[in-house]
Amino acid sequence: MPTGIYERTEKILASYPRGERHYCWRGSEAGDRSLHIWVSRIMGKPRHCSGCGTKTATSYEWANISGKYKRDVSDYKRLCKLCHVEFDKMYGENLPQTKLREFEVRQIRDLYLKKVFHSGQLCKIFGVTQSNILAIVNHKSWRRLK
Ligand SMILES: [Zn+2]
Repeated sequence: MPTGIYERTEKILASYPRGERHYCWRGSEAGDRSLHIWVSRIMGKPRHCSGCGTKTATSYEWANISGKYKRDVSDYKRLCKLCHVEFDKMYGENLPQTKLREFEVRQIRDLYLKKVFHSGQLCKIFGVTQSNILAIVNHKSWRRLK
């Protein structure tokens, strides 16, 4: 492995503090679940929806606002199942992409092209989904970036 790339990757990894290091937030069901249990333990069970305001829905869920699944209760809001689906449609897929900065996208393509990491590892390092990584390396997203 060329040392230049290795050092840069080490820097990327070091820039994510332990505990807050991102992971594939859609691929890691167990991680999502444990965080949702953690939020419920602190905030209690949600009894109303902050999306549509209903208090009569059969179930409520904690939606993650930033898409980063931070251990921060202000990063969650309670939504009914219907609003949660809408919320994920609007923000869930877009956030990981907008979260990345240009130099990170360049690094992803570089590391992938040089076969330093495969997409499954890159999504953990950069905290986006594997499909985001594949879209980036296949130039389906971030097209304007050559
Ligand atoms: Zn609702």
